[in-house]
Amino acid sequence: MTDLADLSIVEAGRQLRSGDVTAVDLWEAAATRIAYTEPHLHAFLTVDREGALATAKVVDAAFRAGEDAGPLQGIPIALKDNMCTKGLATTASSRMLEGWVPPYDGTAVANLRNAGAVLVGKTNLDEFAMGSSTENSAFGTSRNPWDVDRVPGGSSGGSAGSVAVGSSMGAFGSDTGGSIRQPAALCGVVGMKPTYGLVSRYGLIAFASSLDQIGPFARSVEDAALLLEGVAGHDIHDATSYRGEYPTLTDGLEKGVKGLRVGIVKELMVDAIDSEIRAATRAMADKLSDAGADVVEVSLPSSEYALSAYYLIAPAECSANLARLDGVRYGNRVPADTTDEMMAKTRAAGFGPEVTRRILLGTYALSAGYYDAFYGQAQRVRTLVRQDFATAYEQTDVLISPTTPTTAFEIGAKTDDPIAMYYSDVCTIPSNLAGDPSISVPVGVDTRGLPIGFQIMAPALGESMLFRVAAEVERLAEFSARPSLAVSKETV
Ligand code: GLN
Repeated sequence: MTDLADLSIVEAGRQLRSGDVTAVDLWEAAATRIAYTEPHLHAFLTVDREGALATAKVVDAAFRAGEDAGPLQGIPIALKDNMCTKGLATTASSRMLEGWVPPYDGTAVANLRNAGAVLVGKTNLDEFAMGSSTENSAFGTSRNPWDVDRVPGGSSGGSAGSVAVGSSMGAFGSDTGGSIRQPAALCGVVGMKPTYGLVSRYGLIAFASSLDQIGPFARSVEDAALLLEGVAGHDIHDATSYRGEYPTLTDGLEKGVKGLRVGIVKELMVDAIDSEIRAATRAMADKLSDAGADVVEVSLPSSEYALSAYYLIAPAECSANLARLDGVRYGNRVPADTTDEMMAKTRAAGFGPEVTRRILLGTYALSAGYYDAFYGQAQRVRTLVRQDFATAYEQTDVLISPTTPTTAFEIGAKTDDPIAMYYSDVCTIPSNLAGDPSISVPVGVDTRGLPIGFQIMAPALGESMLFRVAAEVERLAEFSARPSLAVSKETV
């Protein structure tokens, strides 16, 4: 019999509704996974055992009373620790916010509670979501469930690892430059960044506000679509929240790719991308072609500059967003004799080295005399990237590429070389700059047995098309490998 922790959300939902399992059963299965995987993974900063059990009991009573809030009711879900949860510590993996308990729920969190989700706990991340490995967490590195000497990716590494081992059935993260798709690729799960504005950012601790988006992790494409449906929607608390009609997410999943035009991005198939990953991408492109898609090569010429532009825009926005953490209203205060001294000491004690580097870079890029040369120039590149995508979508429905240049790397391998770490997001950043949706689907493993992610990108609000193609990629890949940590207690 399948361990309940390994069920998909769809299957768990069926069993909940047929009365074969209860929400308490599902929570207990997740709790058992947590107990034997966490000592090896460190995916969670907080596990809310009491809260999860209490919610599961309420949900079971609701099921018995015939109340059904939809597909997430009774499903154990984990949240990245930069999503504010009322009554539950939220740290963004920073000393600055250690011990902070938000007095409110972010909108995505509130939506999940209303949908009857069982919130399992808060997952580890790079401090303030700045990083690609979780090594920048102030509370210790998370590990990759396929090889615990390697990173799970980042910044949402804890969410990705948890879903991979079944200590949650689905999870949420935030993606500013790749922080959902990159760890999803490295952990062998599905990770999706929605169109900018589709999910409210209210109650998401801000990194770079023009780029940040909340999105789901799941073990299947359909589950990811259901998770996104649970949190998407207009919100008056976020001025950038989308106001128009929302795309449908699950009704195209069975349609296949026959007649669709698929563009493989030339600039993301270069030598700097690991050859095994390129080969896997090419092989999937061929399978899509055999399945009836019209696969052509397309060019995004400005994507070459996307990474550099991102590392000016994101730090610039972060330097402004994090200015509030000065010990006056926000952040753990370090007392001193004068206000200036208090602020300086608070910030020096609260922020880790990468966050400090970003604040310095951003402040410099925005300073008088340099603004045009750096920040202004980066914004112009952002416009060019958007135009490249627009041109590419004149002749294609979706674009495809690798998700990452390498599979999971060893812990410590890139910590002394920020530029090498930044390069981890070279394939994912262009869609963030464009504001477009994008998804990573696992398609195989490399010769070391580490998962390889395949990225699909679509135009803004093209989620329906994105999930449709992703579902076909999932069928064609037949990816069924699981990390040893998830398979049995005996292997750990
Ligand atoms: N790794 C990228 C960075 O460090 C992206 C992070 C993210 O998407 N939050 O900025």
